[in-house]
Amino acid sequence: MAPTPHSVLHDIFGYDSFRGPQQGIVEHVTAGGDALVLMPTGGGKSLCYQIPAIVRQQQGLGCSIVVSPLIALMHDQVGALHEAGVDAAFLNSSQSYEQAQEVEWRLQSGQITLLYVAPERLVTPRFLGLLDALYAQGQLALFAIDEAHCVSQWGHDFRPEYRQLALLHERYAGVPRIALTATADDLTRADMVQGLHLQNAQQFISSFDRPNIRYRIVEKKDAFAQLQRFIQHEHAGDAGVVYAQSRRRVEELAEKLQQSGIHALPYHAGLPPEVRAGNQHRFLREEGVVMVATIAFGMGIDKPDVRFVAHVDMPKNIESYYQETGRAGRDGLPAQAWMAYGLADVVNQRRMIDEGEAEQAFKAILRGKLDALLALAEATDCRRQRLLAYFGEASGPCGNCDNCLQPPALWDGTDAARKLLSTIYRVHQKSALTFGAGHIIDVLRGKDSDKVRQYGHESISTFGVGAQYSEAQLKAIMRQLLATGALGLHKVTSENSGHVFDTLTLTDASRAVLQGQVQVLLRESLAATRTRRPKATP
Ligand code: ADP
Ligand code: ZN
Repeated sequence: MAPTPHSVLHDIFGYDSFRGPQQGIVEHVTAGGDALVLMPTGGGKSLCYQIPAIVRQQQGLGCSIVVSPLIALMHDQVGALHEAGVDAAFLNSSQSYEQAQEVEWRLQSGQITLLYVAPERLVTPRFLGLLDALYAQGQLALFAIDEAHCVSQWGHDFRPEYRQLALLHERYAGVPRIALTATADDLTRADMVQGLHLQNAQQFISSFDRPNIRYRIVEKKDAFAQLQRFIQHEHAGDAGVVYAQSRRRVEELAEKLQQSGIHALPYHAGLPPEVRAGNQHRFLREEGVVMVATIAFGMGIDKPDVRFVAHVDMPKNIESYYQETGRAGRDGLPAQAWMAYGLADVVNQRRMIDEGEAEQAFKAILRGKLDALLALAEATDCRRQRLLAYFGEASGPCGNCDNCLQPPALWDGTDAARKLLSTIYRVHQKSALTFGAGHIIDVLRGKDSDKVRQYGHESISTFGVGAQYSEAQLKAIMRQLLATGALGLHKVTSENSGHVFDTLTLTDASRAVLQGQVQVLLRESLAATRTRRPKATP
């Protein structure tokens, strides 16, 4: 009897029923349709192409090609398929010439059901020649394109080779294609459709919700102390991942965590390959390892019981945040996504965009994406609702994020924001020089610093009018003004030293704040130490 999707699910993979949208996808692709699948990590994407591949092979349609950017993932998947008794193989740079030749031979003689290849290998003339021969014999059953967001430069992991996959559509007309990804906002989605010629593909979009993950975003004060407290109080002995921005910071944090008795290991691309592989192995196999890593760590790592993902520095956009936090709780049990963020994160991320090589239009998009993440971080309402809304999904308050569990008390920072903006305006009006956040805060709080005296800023009319606000409060306001665009950063080159640095500037949106047309609401908890009540404006 010819196998059906359901009999393959049961007999080969040992599952009783399809999960979520799997059945619809599998049936559509098995019947020869194109598909675009958006499903969160852990949703079960692999079966969506593995089952059609097996069924179509049995129908005499030949081999399915799986394009995957990750060598580690290919090994795991092929290993698992072997255990299930499926003829699978991979071709990638980790093999010897002889090994690759052997795979090619098996492919030509129709012995492979699923072949995993890296995109750069697929587009070589040699490999395309093999595919041409199979195609001519009607032995090319399916193309599956995994991690399809890599085709988009708006995605979080652009791979130029993916662009060339457009050729599959023209060269192998009639062979169904299924593209899969776990992260894509609107822009990335549109780019995938265009870049892979999937205009006629049916789209299967699952909910992006990961209900077992609790989202928490706290104001950064002393990142290490906060992280240590978080792990020791809430995740003692748990496996987790801590993401930090730079290699140096990764090593520093790993060492300090170790000193405080936490089983932490570092991971970044600058470590020798054997150290990296060793640490990854220990993370996967040992209990309760905390991996302190740059974003080099994680893609394709399938560890079900990661109980928390912590960010001590802010990622660059919501997709990265979602992808990285998504590595927590793949087993469906409660897990936490915790992030500490501060004014410096905002400034750093902006600077990285401004100083990048990209064109202006591209930078504008990157800035927009960063702003969306800032808005999430500053949000006083449900984090999950905002996160899902970013991916085009409507939902209600979740009851499982910091803001839902403990609605933040708000204080009205409108007056402080106006004083802040006026001070920035006046300071820069007084001289052509530029001043950073610290100095502006000093002027506002009426601090008698050398710099204040040097420039005569004690004579500015707003000098000291913000004395009732703490430095933390004023920073929180700056952050929120930056996040909403009511305050801008401007690049300046120092005439003396030639150094380039950022300075705060007023924007068009600043005016609305100055004129009192917008209210600036801040979390009370973030603005911790407000001891005196604000005085009336003099
Ligand atoms: P993704 O690639 O979307 O992150 P996977 O394909 O790795 O997800 O699947 C995640 C886990 O769910 C795997 O352990 C897989 O075996 C399991 N799984 C997938 N589909 C089903 C199903 N229908 N029933 C039970 N378990 C499933
Ligand atoms: Zn919520």
